[in-house]
Amino acid sequence: MWAYPWDIVDKGPEQAIDELVDIGVDKLYVAANYHTVQGFSPHNPKRNTFFADSGAYFQPEMDYGDLSPAVNPDMEQEGADWIQQIADAVEDSPLQLDAWVVGCHNSKLGMNHKEFTLKSPFGDPLVFGLCPSQPAVQKYLTTMLSDLDRYGFEDMLLETFHYFHGSGWGWHHEKFHTDIGELGEYLLGLCFCDECQSNAVDAGVDVEAARDRSKETIMQLAEGEIDADITPADWIENNEAVKEYSEVRKETLNSLYEGLASATDATIGGFIGMKGVENSWMHGLDIESLEEIVDYFTLMDYMPETEAVVDTYNATTDRISKVPVRAGILPGHPIVDTQDAVTDQIVALNEIGADEITIYNYGLLPKRNLHWVKEAIETAE
Ligand SMILES: [Zn+2]
Repeated sequence: MWAYPWDIVDKGPEQAIDELVDIGVDKLYVAANYHTVQGFSPHNPKRNTFFADSGAYFQPEMDYGDLSPAVNPDMEQEGADWIQQIADAVEDSPLQLDAWVVGCHNSKLGMNHKEFTLKSPFGDPLVFGLCPSQPAVQKYLTTMLSDLDRYGFEDMLLETFHYFHGSGWGWHHEKFHTDIGELGEYLLGLCFCDECQSNAVDAGVDVEAARDRSKETIMQLAEGEIDADITPADWIENNEAVKEYSEVRKETLNSLYEGLASATDATIGGFIGMKGVENSWMHGLDIESLEEIVDYFTLMDYMPETEAVVDTYNATTDRISKVPVRAGILPGHPIVDTQDAVTDQIVALNEIGADEITIYNYGLLPKRNLHWVKEAIETAE
């Protein structure tokens, strides 16, 4: 089960661990570094609504260079290290402790370091995302995994260690009063920072053609001259410069992931399926190459219908054969709202042999839903 560190610490780590064990959970992924979020935590005894500034829930000790983790100010005020507190408590429990680490999605670091963020084709910094082509960002990401090793995580699940689309994962009151569709989102997020451009030049790509075509297409979408329903995969097949520009990013991420894998003793895995596993290229992820580097993938399998959950899982394992695929599910609002649906999904994924079923997430789910998960695990067993 995924969990925010504040929900574990506020509950009292021992009590939270007891609850998790009682539910039937055997692995705890705690967010060690996370993006800005407003979390509503129904059973948190101290803070039901927490505006978590994007940052670290551990105390960084290593030399990160130009970009250091932003330690969460609430934790800093308490002079605490929440990850250490949780690691200490888990040590005496049957739980396995894993880290869930957010990488490039960090609006706090982005606002303070616009030189390292993604840049839209128009040259505007997209402050919610650091660009993984930037050496300073690569150093930040790899150093963080090395730094986290001292907490003894067996496994690290990496989130947003890749490129983004135009509005990221949401910001504050986004105002898009024209529908630019998936394609527009993709192109607006296609990074033209100095490093991305230089990588493309080195690969022989016509960067100006790629940039002009991207800008022109975003504007045509905005003006309704291109149907916003067009799929990026169809469009890019007829737009060679943009396709080549986009492909270069895969090489960059493959090399980043090699560095990440050797930076830590833990096993590492990456999220897939944010926009469908077949669209991983939109994030610069080259699944076939990454299979050789990571230890597993975790599929975001958040869907209301059990049949769709199973079909998506099977479609993913059709593409991925060298490493296990874990299934992440959200047994709560706005995806699932009955005990039967939760049981159906967990039983079905267990029956088809999903490598692991990962539940989102301890503090955000009400007690009612945690009870549904417990019942579902008992039924599946
Ligand atoms: Zn870039």
